[in-house]
Amino acid sequence: MRANAAVFEKLFTPLSVAEVEVDEPGPGEALVRIVASGVCHTDALARDGDMPFPAPGVLGHEGAGVVAAVGAGVTNVSVGDKVVIGWPWCGSCRNCLDGQPRYCLQLGPLVIAGTRADGSTALRRLDGSALHSHFFGQSSFASYSICAASALVPVPADADVSLLGPLACGISTGAGAVLNALRPHPGSSVVIYGSGAVGLSAVMAARLTAATHIIAVDKLASRLTLARELGATETIDVGAVADPVAAVQEICGGPADFAMDCAGNVNVLRQAADSVGMRGTVALIGGAPAGASFALDHMSTLWGKKVVGILGGEGRSVSLINTLITLNAQGRFPYDRLIQKFPLEQVNEALEASHRGDVIKPVLEMPS
Ligand SMILES: [Zn+2]
Ligand SMILES: [Zn+2]
Repeated sequence: MRANAAVFEKLFTPLSVAEVEVDEPGPGEALVRIVASGVCHTDALARDGDMPFPAPGVLGHEGAGVVAAVGAGVTNVSVGDKVVIGWPWCGSCRNCLDGQPRYCLQLGPLVIAGTRADGSTALRRLDGSALHSHFFGQSSFASYSICAASALVPVPADADVSLLGPLACGISTGAGAVLNALRPHPGSSVVIYGSGAVGLSAVMAARLTAATHIIAVDKLASRLTLARELGATETIDVGAVADPVAAVQEICGGPADFAMDCAGNVNVLRQAADSVGMRGTVALIGGAPAGASFALDHMSTLWGKKVVGILGGEGRSVSLINTLITLNAQGRFPYDRLIQKFPLEQVNEALEASHRGDVIKPVLEMPS
């Protein structure tokens, strides 16, 4: 089967759109016709070598579409079902069995090996040479994807599937961190550093809690305006404020209870850590370049501060994604306001627009 795809030819190089050959689904797999795929910061990290996915291959990990075929043994989805392709998970390791598939012990190979477990790849060039597939188990910058059926999240038949892809990663990462992991208590303060797709999803999720200070911190005034519209009670423009940590303390009348680094920047992470006090929690949310490390003040951390990493919003894709779809339909989680659509041919423009910050969540529409 032929598909249109954005091919990652080599590091630091724009992706090139080409026709490729896609396998039939094997046992336990599904073939999904991708309607649209979100573009995530992690795709750019892989293109630039900060996530070791082998070239040549196909990136993309926020795919949504319609099941076109299923392989032997697949029972959770049928041809014609609308689906979001969630994160892959093995289903049998201690963390999967413990209800935390985001921390699947096989996650590394499942997201960046570029092949199935048996070493085969689902994609080829038209000349027959192999292209690495299964980026985050899906390689969704293509009009068709082969993925593990267990990663699929069936969604309501009346859902607009062209808007759902970002729920697979970026939107769930921000929202799930608040709703699944941090769970701010009534009257608490939540500081969200970074107002991109992840940070603004955290803002929208925090508005669904009884937190009374929801503080968005960013360097772009346009994003802070949007953050206020989406639920931030206060904003801090780091271009206009000398010390964002002092600004947080002024707003909260002392240290905050929760601070999230959604930027994936270790300098920002330090500010987030310094924004919370005794028994406060600082959370690592955004992905940083490979090899990044950070330092914290020992004494103030010793005083009951919690430092936690929260991957992909934790929890199970099926429940979190369908919850966010329902909240969106109710007008309580308007994540669609973050989306701007691009045709697949403009994949590099979409990546650049996201990097500059003038588009919060680009979504690539596939040719049908
Ligand atoms: Zn597992
Ligand atoms: Zn992502």
